Amino acid sequence: MDEETFRIWSQRAAEWGADYRASLRDRPVRAQTVPGEIGALVPSAPPEEGTSMERIFADFEAIVPSGMTHWQHPRFFAYFPANAAPVSVVAEYLVTAMAAQCMLWQTSPAATELETKMLDWLRQAVGLPAAFAGVIQDSASSATLAAVLVMRERTLQWGGNRTGLTDAPRLRIYASGQVHTSIDRAIWIAGIGEENLVRVPVTGPLRGMDPQALDAAIRADVESGYRPAGVIACTGGTSTGACDDIAAVVAVAKRHDLYVHVDAAWAGAAMICEEFRSLWQGVEEADSVVFNPHKWLGAQFDCSAHFIRNPGELVRTLAIQPEFLKTYGKDGVINYSEWSVPLGRRFRALKLWFLLRYHGLSGLKAMIRNHVDWSRGVAVRLAAEPDFEIVTAPVLSLFTFRHRGDGDPDARNLALVSAINDDGRIYLTQTRVDGHIAIRFQAGQFEMTEADADMAFKVVVELARKAI
Ligand SMILES: *Cc1c(COP(=O)(O)O)cnc(C)c1O
Repeated sequence: MDEETFRIWSQRAAEWGADYRASLRDRPVRAQTVPGEIGALVPSAPPEEGTSMERIFADFEAIVPSGMTHWQHPRFFAYFPANAAPVSVVAEYLVTAMAAQCMLWQTSPAATELETKMLDWLRQAVGLPAAFAGVIQDSASSATLAAVLVMRERTLQWGGNRTGLTDAPRLRIYASGQVHTSIDRAIWIAGIGEENLVRVPVTGPLRGMDPQALDAAIRADVESGYRPAGVIACTGGTSTGACDDIAAVVAVAKRHDLYVHVDAAWAGAAMICEEFRSLWQGVEEADSVVFNPHKWLGAQFDCSAHFIRNPGELVRTLAIQPEFLKTYGKDGVINYSEWSVPLGRRFRALKLWFLLRYHGLSGLKAMIRNHVDWSRGVAVRLAAEPDFEIVTAPVLSLFTFRHRGDGDPDARNLALVSAINDDGRIYLTQTRVDGHIAIRFQAGQFEMTEADADMAFKVVVELARKAI
């Protein structure tokens, strides 16, 4: 592609993006296609000859948007948000144009130095102490995997990478049943095994780990010859927003010299508001913390902020220095690829720089506070309806509810979720709470307004009484 053509189509793409964003409220939130429908529109073999950009772009417009679930739609209330604030999209255009591999300091000093600065801005923004250093991972799953590998190596006196686990003592990791499935996968991949992920019972309305049960489980394991290696606590679990009492968990872990990793992938963004920090009180004593600016904060996916008290342990676990990666004469520089499992890294700090400067912390705080207020408003209105019940009270902007009516409650509520998502005006997902289906509602989309919350309430009530 020559320069002029590149210029023209880059402009067309940017125009398309702006039009797309402007059209979102008129689109159904969840894709309304059936499996295979989009695939059938694409030839089954690659073309031998090149195709004109006109044709490629026309096919894109004809085939792709209707097969998308619109994550930037202001009435996206499903899962957790994956916000891409327009300003972070602009930054990503620039990053894409430069397309640098930012694995070492010298392969893009600006990317490395901006990453150090931006993670320190974020650290201050969420109130973590200066003892934490940060790195951007592609996802919270990667950060948690890195943390579990550090737990493993630290417990095996840094020998696991060398000798493997065949003759190693049986390691144990502790977490509640409310943590994300990325924790299970980290345990599998680290070679520790699902059976050694000990599920500590939860207690209280926030469904946090019972610290006494944690202590008892660790003691019992030591007595049976296992080697406890670490604890994974959560602030804002995916199902209902469960929060462990981090201070209590850390106190138990310290007694046994165990590493504590805190998964706050979603809820961490809310900690830019001082009033929500009680949810992770004690976090300053943890060994590592992860939260995703690509969720609630508005940094285009992917951007996961991983804070580590002792990065030396992480580097000792993950760094490999073959000759071709050494950067002679540049002592004291950070090579962030030594802080993560993948070697290659995109320039992810630029979108944070644009985002934090454009909105300022006050703009982002106002957005998060609105989401929390509006979500609570929907919960209050649903609670006042005789045929609805709130199953779990709001944690930040997440709550779960059920519709009461004739027949099997699980089937009824699953049918309601389907009816809502087929309708398309809003998008919700379900979860299980104490064995039964509950419908999740979370408010967190960047361009959501209070009117969108009103619409959500209206649609839920209307469809519960009509469609099922
Ligand atoms: C979303 C989420 C994850 C997974 O995040 P990825 O960045 O997609 O890996 C893990 N834990 C919690 C609590 C989450 O909300």
